[in-house]
Amino acid sequence: MKSSFKILRVFSIDIEIHISFLVLPLFFFFLYGIKGIFIIIAIFTCVAAHELTHSLVAKSYNIRVDKITLLPIGGIATMRSAPQNPKQELAISISGPIFNIVLALLLYLPLKSILGAATLMHPNPRTWSGAIAYAYWVNPILAGFNLLPAFPMDGGRVLRSLLALKLSYKKATKIAVVFGYVFAVVFAFIALSTQPPNFLLLLIALFIFSAASQEQATVSLRSTLNKIRVKDILPERFANLRLQTPISEAVSTMLHIAQEDFPVLDDSGKMAGLLTRDRVALALQNREELKTASDLMIKEFPQTTSQEMLSSVFVKIQSGNFKAIPVIDNGLLKGIVTLEDIKRVYALFAKEKGR
Ligand SMILES: [Zn+2]
Repeated sequence: MKSSFKILRVFSIDIEIHISFLVLPLFFFFLYGIKGIFIIIAIFTCVAAHELTHSLVAKSYNIRVDKITLLPIGGIATMRSAPQNPKQELAISISGPIFNIVLALLLYLPLKSILGAATLMHPNPRTWSGAIAYAYWVNPILAGFNLLPAFPMDGGRVLRSLLALKLSYKKATKIAVVFGYVFAVVFAFIALSTQPPNFLLLLIALFIFSAASQEQATVSLRSTLNKIRVKDILPERFANLRLQTPISEAVSTMLHIAQEDFPVLDDSGKMAGLLTRDRVALALQNREELKTASDLMIKEFPQTTSQEMLSSVFVKIQSGNFKAIPVIDNGLLKGIVTLEDIKRVYALFAKEKGR
């Protein structure tokens, strides 16, 4: 099921909204009427601007940003590649919270003189001035929460990148991950020791805990894959299809061999497209009228060379939601590398290290 919907596009970045964000306006409307909707729009704008700041800094380092997904507790900017060095990671991750802090500082005096210090300091969404004050506090809270030095918050990345200025990236990550675990345990302890237990805080603790271990796994995967080139794992044999191969024949090939994705070659032997098993399965399911491989093949796909590192191939495959990537050297198709191949290699090396 699609869980996010595109609402607008700025700086060639799609901004999507998660469906859970659609439940909130109803809830706030129920609580505070039209002022509740105003508050939700304010939260939405601040989160979007925060993520957009991250994205624009990332873009200035030539990192492609595909989309921003807005969730009630924050946003996620989907980037094509990782920052090249700790300084870039520091700038990207700290820019979002800085935006919120700067906005809060700029608005403080004007709002204080308009709303009065008492209203600004004790926001109450039942009056309009209270609702504006409430919306104001979204910025410092967003900045503060995101600066917690724990993954997946920006603060976790800020901490890691600061450590990585002096230590190796792997070691810096390990320390930042431990920080994440400590925060998770402290939050869980506080959540359970209050009466009644604070389940929201407990949920945040679990969230931080799983994000910390996830980050550890990602970095370990990346550093392993960074030592292996495509040519080292390129399968020797792979099957091709032709533009005019009938779909029935493609299906029978797929039934006979383990390969899931097939390069489709034109008459000159050049790769014209990629036919994936998922694509064929979907077409069969929908009973589409199809004749040949060229009707169904994907024409736009990422590609790699046999010299490329697996780490960047992995990012290419994942960011495009592909399962396989053709290997092309000087226009010549050398084979195909799949997500399964990469996972198999990683499992092998991870085990070797563990011994
Ligand atoms: Zn952020």
